[in-house]
Amino acid sequence: MKIMLVEDNEAIIMGLEYLLSQEGYQVVTARNIAEASVILAKEECVLILLDIGLPDGDGFELCRKIKRQTQTPVIFLTAREEETDVVKGLDMGADDYIVKPFRNRELISRIRGVLRRSGKGNPVLRCGDIALNTETGRVTRCGEEISLTKLEYRILGSMMSCPGKLFTRDEILSDIWDISGNFVNDNTLSVTIKRLREKLGDNEGRFIRTVRGMGYRVEH
Ligand code: CA
Repeated sequence: MKIMLVEDNEAIIMGLEYLLSQEGYQVVTARNIAEASVILAKEECVLILLDIGLPDGDGFELCRKIKRQTQTPVIFLTAREEETDVVKGLDMGADDYIVKPFRNRELISRIRGVLRRSGKGNPVLRCGDIALNTETGRVTRCGEEISLTKLEYRILGSMMSCPGKLFTRDEILSDIWDISGNFVNDNTLSVTIKRLREKLGDNEGRFIRTVRGMGYRVEH
């Protein structure tokens, strides 16, 4: 999931490179239109964050070019005084815009929204310290890789796709029966959850919560 950032303000670049990488995106930065054009020609990006005032032209011009060449969604990063222009810019095919200075959470949710609408959701599910990449199958806790069995991975993956939701034991069992090779009974499920908690450093069940008599849910 690579995002191209087209921006010439070093403070914003630093902040966004950090923020986006924390969210599991790769970032490739262009500081002007010329650099952006080179990247555009050789890199496959899922989304472009586009500043308007750039040293060698304006972002609108670049947006037009992007939209001629690709289907890649564009979010304008705009200064307040440019806001009226941007509303016009949306007619050119930009997918959204956000006014600087923006709140990080708001930008991330705008990005997710645009990616969802364009059918490119984030493959990285994240709950607290735990991240699960549905493309690579990698599970990490605080960045440290954790090795899971197929069964453990499948159970964790379905629960992390809906944090906070109660998964009944029956739901989990019917979700995993096809990958387990042999029949998974209720007891095997309990044992698997216990092992999963151990691997995740969650021995007290604070991350994978037991909902007594019903099933489990993971915390956000
Ligand atoms: Ca600028």
